[in-house]
Amino acid sequence: METKKKLGLIGRNISYSFSKKYFEDKFHKLMVNNYSYDIFDLQNIEDVENIFADPELLGFNVTIPYKKEIIGYLDQLSDEAEKIGAVNCVKIENGIKKGYNTDATGFEKTLLLHVKPHHRSAMVLGNGGAAKAVKYVLDKMQIPNITVARSCGDFNFKNLSAESVKTHQIIIQTTPVGTFPDIEDCLDFPFDGITDKHLIIDLIYNPNYTQFIINTSERGAKTANGFYMLEQQAEKAWEIWNNQKK
Ligand code: NAP
Repeated sequence: METKKKLGLIGRNISYSFSKKYFEDKFHKLMVNNYSYDIFDLQNIEDVENIFADPELLGFNVTIPYKKEIIGYLDQLSDEAEKIGAVNCVKIENGIKKGYNTDATGFEKTLLLHVKPHHRSAMVLGNGGAAKAVKYVLDKMQIPNITVARSCGDFNFKNLSAESVKTHQIIIQTTPVGTFPDIEDCLDFPFDGITDKHLIIDLIYNPNYTQFIINTSERGAKTANGFYMLEQQAEKAWEIWNNQKK
């Protein structure tokens, strides 16, 4: 009999999950019936110890609010996860629990799909876990970048000028502002600085078109949402769990 390979997602209040459906569809397409993917809704991160106790567990994804807190429960980190300081994928092999950051891969693939030679500098809106993965990729690609955040950024949303927006041709929106159901919400942002030379990537994938995407595309910018990143981070996790190299 084939060994069972259990996968899943840990987070808090995650009754709906893109990942569960994505991986269950994948098992179906690949006709592998020894894999399963479960939702582990944890009120406290300490409860992850119960999940690790399952000898059939191959690994899991990690979502808000545990991407940093999980690190204390792991034996090893990939170089990327260590530099970013956040883990969204865990693999257990020979009893060793190792953390990875596949958000960075997902974002890198999204950026590579759209970036053009005139996109020379970037502005990151927000300064949370996803922003750290984004900045890791921008630094790796040697794209100079600044951060705009309510706190701990180079600028905040009140002192950001349209002129500064104009000179940063890649803008990455990493805050949750505008996510379903609050789809009318939008950052207080000087949209007058947006031109048809801009590339806008909003990491939100629900709704497809956030108010931020709508406002920037109306000014001629090229826009992308977070769906491809979401798919690609899941694909990278699948490769890691199955030791596939591409
Ligand atoms: P996080 O660690 O909680 O960080 C959220 C950031 O947004 C913080 O900097 C926070 O600022 C800022 N923020 C929140 N509300 C704000 C507001 N009203 N005005 C201005 N700034 C605000 O969350 P995360 O893990 O980085 O995730 C952020 C978003 O990215 C979520 O929507 C998530 O779904 C999305 N995401 C998408 C993908 C994908 O694959 N597409 C992957 C990862 C994340 P403070 O620090 O001031 O609170």
